[in-house]
Amino acid sequence: MPAYNVYLANLGNALNQEQQNQVRTALQGWFGQIANTDGALVQWVTSASSIAEHELLIYFVPSELGSVARSLPGYSGPAGGGDGFTVWAGNLTASEVYVSRSRNWLAEIAFHEAMHNKLHLGDRDLHALDGLARIPVVAGSQPSANNITRMRRALNNRHTQWTGGWGAYSDPFGGL
Ligand SMILES: [Zn+2]
Repeated sequence: MPAYNVYLANLGNALNQEQQNQVRTALQGWFGQIANTDGALVQWVTSASSIAEHELLIYFVPSELGSVARSLPGYSGPAGGGDGFTVWAGNLTASEVYVSRSRNWLAEIAFHEAMHNKLHLGDRDLHALDGLARIPVVAGSQPSANNITRMRRALNNRHTQWTGGWGAYSDPFGGL
């Protein structure tokens, strides 16, 4: 099997190079544990046209004002009010991280949203678990053994990622 791909999108240049490196390195380590034998490849991309049905895409946007997940086809609610947001409708799923609120735990929140995304658990069910499933997510914390096991079991779940985020994004500060 090829390596499991996790794609990260830096919309509106929400993260600087150092933040991108830190987030990628942390997630690479965690997804490497999850994907063990086949390995994982976490990378920043500017499009995700070749993403497979079971792979992951996480958008990073400056704040909820720049939410793209709320534009998911079939979803008509508001953006999330926390540090990140994951939504699914029809057979499409989208996750995003709000950088301005999550500055000190970007990788941790990205992993938290990845759990919502792969496990399709809503807030009540996911937040009742331990490790990075819990809210509030604590800076410097790691996925628990249970988080890793659940994600490993769910890795082949086909929750097709919505790739319309790049097209949907409009810079909330673009007019300033
Ligand atoms: Zn959550």
